[in-house]
Amino acid sequence: MNLYLMLKQIRRLSWLRHLGLGLVVCALMISLSSFRVNSQTPQVLKVATEPTFPPFEMQSEDGSGLQGFDIDIMNAIGEAMGVTIQFEGLPFDGIIPALQSNTIDAAISGITITSARAQSVGFSSPYFKAGLAIAVQENNTDIESFDDLTNKRIAVQIGTTGAMEANKIPNATTTEFDSAVLALQELVNGKVDAVVNDGPVTLFAIKEAGLKGVKVVGELVTEEFYGIALPKNSPNRQLINYGLFTILENGAYQSIYQKWFAGEPLQLPLIAPAMEGAAQELATSIQQQQPQQSVFIQLLTRLPQGALLTVLLTTFSVFFGMIGGSLIAFALISPNKLLRTICQIYVEFFRGTPMLVQLFIIYFGLPALFQNLGIQWSLDRFPAAIIALSLNVAAYLAEIIRGGIQSIDQGQWEACQSLGMSPIQTMQDVIFPQAFRRILPPLGNEFITLIKDTSLTAVIGFVELFRQGQLIVASTYQAFEVYIVVALFYLLLTSSSSFLFKYLEKQMNPLSKIKKSA
Ligand code: GLN
Repeated sequence: MNLYLMLKQIRRLSWLRHLGLGLVVCALMISLSSFRVNSQTPQVLKVATEPTFPPFEMQSEDGSGLQGFDIDIMNAIGEAMGVTIQFEGLPFDGIIPALQSNTIDAAISGITITSARAQSVGFSSPYFKAGLAIAVQENNTDIESFDDLTNKRIAVQIGTTGAMEANKIPNATTTEFDSAVLALQELVNGKVDAVVNDGPVTLFAIKEAGLKGVKVVGELVTEEFYGIALPKNSPNRQLINYGLFTILENGAYQSIYQKWFAGEPLQLPLIAPAMEGAAQELATSIQQQQPQQSVFIQLLTRLPQGALLTVLLTTFSVFFGMIGGSLIAFALISPNKLLRTICQIYVEFFRGTPMLVQLFIIYFGLPALFQNLGIQWSLDRFPAAIIALSLNVAAYLAEIIRGGIQSIDQGQWEACQSLGMSPIQTMQDVIFPQAFRRILPPLGNEFITLIKDTSLTAVIGFVELFRQGQLIVASTYQAFEVYIVVALFYLLLTSSSSFLFKYLEKQMNPLSKIKKSA
């Protein structure tokens, strides 16, 4: 049934002919409003949204708050319900776990109603009709439909219907980003062949936000309906539906729609088609008892892969960071003032800016800059992550190493000099070995910090330990269990490295050598 048209027609038709139908709708409204009066209506409704999904939700231009179609719709619904809406920003893949744990009352974020999601959360009636679209670079001629995506590199937003559809394409490599904007940036930078994302959002990015070098091909791939998500069995569901029906009826919905999409609203069903088969799917999945087992298997197979990448990333970064850090440390204590100043600026920059920002500059920023200069250049994820981490670690290690070297008594330099040793020989054979033993504890700290910081590379789509966990949550919605196991994996890695560093410290302690030989 088309809800919007139904309400419109009721208004137009003569009351005598449609008295019966009118009475049914009145009864529905009265029962919902009596529900509103009788039940404990909340004063404030905490509603989550992921505000990088224009034109549905985004920061307003002056940065003062949120704006967008969803924001207006939710505020109008709140007004109809007599409730104040308090918006909270959350990452898209965190919305369903937050609803499951009841930390928020509802979420409006262009969330497609799917039968899989309906097993974990509740949904209002649909409030918008959308669908997935394929975006490619403007000069691309070989992708025209979904079938052409086989064997292609695709960027998507994590936990979305776009990601679910892209993961079904045979032999395609899918990279998942935190937001649709980053996925599109990846396409602009030429690192993927296509982006699968909600059509209205991609079109808005191209037409309104001025995204260059990208076009949408073919028809919408799917037909999807957005709903307001709620915790399962939430008492607010009927209230929200009441608010939605009210704004559909009183014309508020239509004017909000026209404000953002300049056209007539599309037809909305009372129940999303995806939900019609939901009950049956739920019954089948309960019968098969698949979900529990599959999380367990996914954890066992995917987390070790992620952990391996985390270890590789840390080891490479500490290795290069150590080389760079030592060179900078030598420069910092060199007599050359210019060299010292350059290295001081380097250290200040890399210690004084967030690693996340450095990662974004190297992975997204530099290729975009080169594109603008007409140079085709980009970095793969792995080298980009290693470069960013190594540059950052080198700054910290430089200071640690400099401190270690300067802690060695000046008299040793003089002693070596009187023995006829060159400064390089002195540093290599006398000073550095002693300094190295002293810097082992802070080096161990750096290593452990880095193991944890590698999780930042998830933002550039790098599938290390944390991202593997996020991906499992995105398909299973079992946030607590998955993240606890992820934390245990990190703990295993950090405690093994602190054990390793303690062992190294012991090995390098001259006293322990004397004891052994005695
Ligand atoms: N409609 C898509 C989904 O529900 C994407 C939503 C979003 O990224 N905000 O998966």
